[in-house]
Amino acid sequence: MTEVTAIKTSAAQSAAEQPMVRFENVCKRYGNLVVLDDLNLEIARGEKVAIIGPSGSGKTTVLRMLMTLERIDGGVIWVDGEPMTHMMRSGQMVPAAQKHLRRVRSKIGMVFQHFNLFPHMTALQNCIEAPITVLKMSRKEAEARATELLDMVGLADKKGHYPAQLSGGQQQRVAIARALAMRPKVMLFDEVTSALDPELVGEVLHVIRQLGAEHDLTMLMVTHQMGFAKEFADRVCFFYQGKIAEQGVPQELFGAPKNERTKQFLRAVL
Ligand code: ADP
Repeated sequence: MTEVTAIKTSAAQSAAEQPMVRFENVCKRYGNLVVLDDLNLEIARGEKVAIIGPSGSGKTTVLRMLMTLERIDGGVIWVDGEPMTHMMRSGQMVPAAQKHLRRVRSKIGMVFQHFNLFPHMTALQNCIEAPITVLKMSRKEAEARATELLDMVGLADKKGHYPAQLSGGQQQRVAIARALAMRPKVMLFDEVTSALDPELVGEVLHVIRQLGAEHDLTMLMVTHQMGFAKEFADRVCFFYQGKIAEQGVPQELFGAPKNERTKQFLRAVL
């Protein structure tokens, strides 16, 4: 099937029947280094997927490409039934314009390892800035929603605090509330507990666990927390040298890995 025919066939299906996210033959290189090698990955609506693997295997690059922080070198990324990285023009598939990328990207929220909060804004201001400027929400509506979300992550009493006045775990919970304020359909978590002191990890994982249980969000998480991946994810993907070397439900992948690389990795980290 040609790329154009594939696009037309997919467009004919309703968005709801399609995966929420689909990487189709996606390639990414930095110079001669192949970081993602013909990646095919589908994530169903509401599915919680954990990505694990050794350092440098391409895990973060997968998330960054979904956030349009990296250009792709081949293939197509689909989000919510439409190509994110490409668009149809006069029956031809062409690389997407910035406006198209931004529109599709707005369905995705991301939480980073280092929180990335605006330091000069309070927790509440961090959560209302984008809804007001990008979604054109009224200040009143944005504040009501941000207050609700800060309450949900257990920080109702900290909404007037600046990031420097909050612990790492609290800052990360503000970052989660801020991403949710944009009403994403997909949430990406990139090693969100790696920069935290061990005693603060639990509170952040608790919020993520609660989000997964209460909301119909699609969640994609790069994590080193194998225990959490085992308990939280519907599916675990093990990346090795830019490919999915093995994937499966957590009980199988952790309990009876088949691939020699997975076995080696799990022996080293568990
Ligand atoms: P992981 O998240 O699995 O540790 P990454 O996706 O961050 O891996 O990186 C995959 C590979 O791509 C690594 O070898 C890394 O050094 C390389 N890489 C990532 N970003 C860049 C960049 N901006 N320029 C050059 N190489 C990069």
